[in-house]
Amino acid sequence: MKAPDPREEKPSARDKASYTGPSNVHNLLARLDKVKRTGPCTWQGCCPAHNDRGPSLSIAEKDDGRILVHCFAGCGVHSVLAAVGMDISDLFPERAIPHRVGPERRPFPAADVLRAVGFEAMVVAAASVAMLAGQPFTEVDRERLILAVSRIQAAMTAAGVTHHG
Ligand SMILES: [Zn+2]
Repeated sequence: MKAPDPREEKPSARDKASYTGPSNVHNLLARLDKVKRTGPCTWQGCCPAHNDRGPSLSIAEKDDGRILVHCFAGCGVHSVLAAVGMDISDLFPERAIPHRVGPERRPFPAADVLRAVGFEAMVVAAASVAMLAGQPFTEVDRERLILAVSRIQAAMTAAGVTHHG
């Protein structure tokens, strides 16, 4: 009899970034005949747009995900793709579309954050005054104080200030 393994946590394959699906190049290759890999990112196969006996279609996937298709018999890219029910846009995956680089900057509502931080600072100040006056410090007070500190830290994070305690 096998005891249940307490460490059943397995790294999920779904954790892998935001990959949306199989590469379009494989989608295309699956629709071609006599596909043969000719390099790390290059293949050849029969051209679907003309009566191809030998593989005269070359396919290459570029670093940025774009797919290049070339028929040595002279078929146009459009007719090659149309023959397999694909579109020119299928050669350009989402990730190949150029977009702004750099971290996204969210608008920082400085006044709101300062107001909130000011209020939390008052909470902390009131707590320390009470403490110095020898007033009983309850669990609720303690929780509120921790909340105040975490809110101040959250505000600092929102402002892009790193905090080294
Ligand atoms: Zn062709």
